[in-house]
Amino acid sequence: MNQIRILANDGIDESGKSMLETAGFEVVTTHYKAEELPEKLKTFDVITVRSATQVRKDLIDACPNLKVIGRGGVGMDNIDVEYAKGKGLAVYNTPAASSRSVAELVFAHVFTLERLMHVANRAMPVSGQADFAKLKKQCSEGSEVLGKTIGIIGFGRIGQEVARMALGLGMNVIASDPYVKEAVIEIKVNGALEKLKVNIRTVDLMTLFLQSEIITIHIPKADKPVVGREELSKLMKGVLLINTARGGLFDEDAILEGLASGQIGGAGIDVFIGEPTPRKEILSHPKISLSPHIGGSTAEAQENVGKELAGLIIGHFASKSP
Ligand code: NAD
Repeated sequence: MNQIRILANDGIDESGKSMLETAGFEVVTTHYKAEELPEKLKTFDVITVRSATQVRKDLIDACPNLKVIGRGGVGMDNIDVEYAKGKGLAVYNTPAASSRSVAELVFAHVFTLERLMHVANRAMPVSGQADFAKLKKQCSEGSEVLGKTIGIIGFGRIGQEVARMALGLGMNVIASDPYVKEAVIEIKVNGALEKLKVNIRTVDLMTLFLQSEIITIHIPKADKPVVGREELSKLMKGVLLINTARGGLFDEDAILEGLASGQIGGAGIDVFIGEPTPRKEILSHPKISLSPHIGGSTAEAQENVGKELAGLIIGHFASKSP
């Protein structure tokens, strides 16, 4: 059998790469642009991607040698999964590997917004010397999260990880998910010597809207926003909205409108409509804390993803070998 060739078009962590090479596979980590891929991918058996590279029908059709598509991460909306499977390809992802990283980014945005770090980080390089006292006053109106209610829309892996962190911070947690009625959140403390179990029953979306001081969303890409203009009036005045799931789940026009009226107090956004060129009004808004789609991108998550994906690819070809 010829050596299996893997194109890691969006890169792969060194630990996963070395697992694959030890198993005898060739791993190429060159990034090819979309227009180059149909030609370049022809000689590969496997492509691995993160969220940047699209694997659509025409690419799959152009590369009949392709046997496996690996997605490092959760959402598969950049891959025509059913089409690929229909043509006999295997499609794998690594759903759990980055949950903690995304949940931690949620709190990076929450703390940023609560303590006005987005304001301070923008203003201090410009006027930190001339206007220190003024900035100190401006940024001294922050809040603690202790005792606040966080509403989690989508109570799957990431949603439950957010709940675990929120409970640890002394927050009240409510969640809404039409497919999850309740979940037991286990918190390990003191080096996992002790465990605390908290049972959370989900509520309907309207209850979540009415009761949450902070709302964070963790559902797959959807055609319709979960919070649009019509929902704005149902939200608690001054609510913070955090979107680390997919661009547009909170309608961007509604966010801008809500920020202007004060209905929304601030927003933390990691994912955007029109990535990789988000709109300017969102990027430059003083009440928005921003990150460039890095929810699942930490050293730990990259390593988890790389190893898990490598294991799946090795397992795939082991099961096919005579
Ligand atoms: P998951 O499948 O474990 O959980 C998703 C949950 O959403 C499920 O429980 C499902 O029942 C629920 N759901 C679906 N539609 C819903 C709706 N309309 N209202 C309420 N709940 C709904 O997925 P996960 O691992 O928690 O990931 C969630 C999303 O996070 C992914 O789909 C992906 O888009 C996003 N994500 C982003 C990054 C990033 O870099 N920012 C990284 C990883 C994942």
